[in-house]
Amino acid sequence: MSISRRQLLKSIGVGAVGISLIQTSKLSPSYAQSPTSAEVAAYFRFALGDYEMIVVSDNAFGLPIGFFGANVSEDEVRTQLESLHIPIGNGGTVNATVMILILTQGERVTLFDTGTGINAGKLVPTLNALGISPDAVTEIVMSHYHPDHIDGLSNNGTLTFPNAQVFFAQPEYDFMQANPDVASAALDKLQPALDADLVTFYAPDTEVTEGVFSIPTYGHTAGHMSFSIRSGDTQLINVADAITSPYTFMPNPEWSFGFDADPVQAAESRKTLLDRIASERALMFGYHFPFPGLGYAVRQGDAESYTFVPAAF
Ligand SMILES: [Zn+2]
Repeated sequence: MSISRRQLLKSIGVGAVGISLIQTSKLSPSYAQSPTSAEVAAYFRFALGDYEMIVVSDNAFGLPIGFFGANVSEDEVRTQLESLHIPIGNGGTVNATVMILILTQGERVTLFDTGTGINAGKLVPTLNALGISPDAVTEIVMSHYHPDHIDGLSNNGTLTFPNAQVFFAQPEYDFMQANPDVASAALDKLQPALDADLVTFYAPDTEVTEGVFSIPTYGHTAGHMSFSIRSGDTQLINVADAITSPYTFMPNPEWSFGFDADPVQAAESRKTLLDRIASERALMFGYHFPFPGLGYAVRQGDAESYTFVPAAF
């Protein structure tokens, strides 16, 4: 049975930008991804040229499987997921992680998005356990305005990372200002950084901050950005939410995600991005991929179809 995007959004009980977040501690054992303690979540370190990179697992939530192929039948999505042994939870949900990619270089600490916030996510306690206090975060590079990405920026008007310069996409901010009906919560999250004169607006296809280049991947949101992170001749492409599941959207880039604002534009962005990642043989990171979210896109023949191969370290 085909379920429309509208029905999907309705079935989750909230509007297009509201995601019902479930703390990892409340998930079933098969979905538990934070075995270290109640507070500190899983993290993973790796080198990228001169940078020391860290992936921190902030949270996870279940989404109806129909979200992972909103323009095809639910049976088709289920068949695809089952063929890859992806666990489907009670009620037909698939687990999506929330992971923060972090670039460190000397005193520099750059976060890519901010997770689900201090009342829900495990980013801050995990950073503390790694010896990185919130005060020590120097930069935050935002991909888009959705709550699972921006809620960690501030809490009740107080910046979570009070010294960090916040890099925000100009086209995304333009959309938010023009559409306060859907973006008011995100605007509230951003306001303390604006008040503190800590926001730098960046354009597509520019160097946002040293070694971080914006790649416009519009469609998931109006101004959604992915990033090429480079050190010397090494590159990591942070896809953010241009690809939310490697198991449905890499074999089928034309499938749309339930939260894609413009599904047609999102699919075009996804195809262009995957072609680049495969052609450049780039390491990729997905914010909602299985922990730690790192791997490669291998093209299947001449088709616009890709297999995700987790990176081996
Ligand atoms: Zn997201």
